[in-house]
Amino acid sequence: MQFEGLQEKTLVIIKPDAIQRGLVGKITDRFEQKGLKLVGMKMMRLEEAVLREHYSHIADKPFYPGVQRFMMSSPVIVQVWEGLEVVNAIRLITGITKARTAEAGSIRGDYAMSVACNVIHASDSVESAKAEVSRFFREEELHGYEKSDYLHVYTEDERV
Ligand code: ADP
Repeated sequence: MQFEGLQEKTLVIIKPDAIQRGLVGKITDRFEQKGLKLVGMKMMRLEEAVLREHYSHIADKPFYPGVQRFMMSSPVIVQVWEGLEVVNAIRLITGITKARTAEAGSIRGDYAMSVACNVIHASDSVESAKAEVSRFFREEELHGYEKSDYLHVYTEDERV
């Protein structure tokens, strides 16, 4: 796998339960406080076909129709975050799928009780992050810029 350093990207979806419960700011704040760089963000409604593609690994499960109804019940916010090993860093902050047993301190551990309504999606590998970012964002919707606090977030040898 090619080393992508600071340009590694991952996709986050802030799910309908978080939109309804007013958790968008709190969730986004977690990633900002961690020192991650927001390079894309938009609000959208998920269409059936794109959702089925995104969740193709669970699309034949008996619980999938419920997941689909939930994910299409309101708009979602999709975000792209960038940073060194960001895919893994955000999965750790996200916590495990079944929110009521997710580690305290993780987003799911702190804000959710359900398996399906677990407030966010986060890409689970560098490969799936690539596919997911390009599924939801066009190239021109991703923004490159200098982030001044990188001087203090990373050491010089990490900023390669
Ligand atoms: P994760 O989002 O933690 O990577 P999965 O990719 O396995 O988990 O599942 C995708 C989403 O489908 C979960 O976040 C959750 O919203 C829903 N889901 C997974 N398993 C179940 C289940 N057994 N019952 C209901 N919903 C589920």
